[in-house]
Amino acid sequence: MKIKAQYAMVLNLDKCIGCHTCSLPCNNVWTNRKGAEYMWFNNVECKPGIGYPRKWENQQIHRGGWTLGEKGLQLAAGGRVHKTLNIFHNPDLPTIDQYYEPWDYDYAKLIESPARQHQPAIRPRSQLTGEPLDLQWGPNWEDDLAGLATTGGGDVNFKNLEVATYLQFRNVFMFWLPRLCEHCLNPACVASCPSGALYKREEDGIVLVDQERCRGWRYCVSGCPYKKVYFNWHTGRAEKCLFCYPRTEAGQTTLCAHSCVGRIRYVGVLLYDAERIAQAAAAPTDQAVYPAQMEMLLDPEDPEVRRAAKAQGLADNVLAAARRSPVHALICRWRLALPLHPEFRTLPMVWYVPPLSPVSVQADTTDAQDQVDQVDRMRIPITYLANLLTAGDEVPVRLALSRLMAVRQYMRSLRLGQTADTQVLDKVGLDLPTADRIYHLLALARLDDRFVLPTAPAGDAGIYKRQGTCGFGDAM
Ligand code: SF4
Ligand code: SF4
Repeated sequence: MKIKAQYAMVLNLDKCIGCHTCSLPCNNVWTNRKGAEYMWFNNVECKPGIGYPRKWENQQIHRGGWTLGEKGLQLAAGGRVHKTLNIFHNPDLPTIDQYYEPWDYDYAKLIESPARQHQPAIRPRSQLTGEPLDLQWGPNWEDDLAGLATTGGGDVNFKNLEVATYLQFRNVFMFWLPRLCEHCLNPACVASCPSGALYKREEDGIVLVDQERCRGWRYCVSGCPYKKVYFNWHTGRAEKCLFCYPRTEAGQTTLCAHSCVGRIRYVGVLLYDAERIAQAAAAPTDQAVYPAQMEMLLDPEDPEVRRAAKAQGLADNVLAAARRSPVHALICRWRLALPLHPEFRTLPMVWYVPPLSPVSVQADTTDAQDQVDQVDRMRIPITYLANLLTAGDEVPVRLALSRLMAVRQYMRSLRLGQTADTQVLDKVGLDLPTADRIYHLLALARLDDRFVLPTAPAGDAGIYKRQGTCGFGDAM
């Protein structure tokens, strides 16, 4: 057993209000620079939809991530030999149109306009060429389901569903999916880089780009199935989410999590067995990847794990943070959070609590059998959520939704002054203290409960010094 610590995030999709506030501080701090105009390290997509860049989830088109073939686990876009032979032409790269051509406005024309009969108007101009732009697409073009009738058919999460049914107004459903780099345990971006410029930090698992080593081959961009590495056309190098490491090293959470208006984000430490990575990533079927990933994650309360972790040099404050970790509770103890597209086999570390869709739910029954029935009758089809979060396996999604519903009904019985309805909890495998903890964490938790990160050890000043290479050097 080789124990490692990994920083991870959980997002509760039930509470995301699609305000995009998370994207803005990230953009202001990390990508507000020349060459990075089109980059959103954090973006918020409206589902159903095809996202940013367009159809990023469709690996038939983008060929990112890993596939399990006759020779075992392989990069979907081909291995080192294939890359070397095609090093001057990468056919799998997304085009700028698939992201969007960034634009700006000449605001001075508004301010300096002389008095006139009609209000002055300004046209969008490309930030790349300066030419007037006919806007056709943007990073949140599909917000509030805009254009769903056109793009909806391209959403791969409708697999095994009659997509036309859900594009009809009376059946349509909607939720938001905020996305950032997954800081994967088996990152395809790292494995794709011919220069060895991408690396996963030993101490916390954050995946970074060494700007000194990057040669701009862009195989990381196409290799990432989540399309969360970007090419800076000005510097000629790759860039990606840094999990705000200058903040996390000081024990603070990421900018996107800190600024989240809906308080949907949780950040903490997971302990995992690094010796099981290869086995989990090469699980025999796509649906077997999520359970294999769960088996890799270790219980920080287990005395054997704690003893081994200490013997292997994990710091006391890291172990203490792992024991208080809200993400460990949501992912492992309560099984409420699920990974995004585990079938990409990168073992992602940003997880999601699936959204309830209460509009069509009769929430006043206390019978647990009805609970399950209700979950199946929710407006958002379980099949859609399962395609998004568990490679189509509906069982874990149904369990998470049933537990959320049960806690909601238990709290409802308390709030209405009735006898606490614990029966509903029994039926979904929750006890009373656990239900209280879930309610507290999902509904009331303050900053200190939602974000539990250790500070970097004082003697580890080297981490800070590396900012010049794994950050953006002088460009920042
Ligand atoms: S999500 Fe992040 S860590 Fe995972 S493959 Fe993509 S860029 Fe690499
Ligand atoms: S700030 Fe929070 S609530 Fe708003 S879009 Fe981002 S994740 Fe959702």
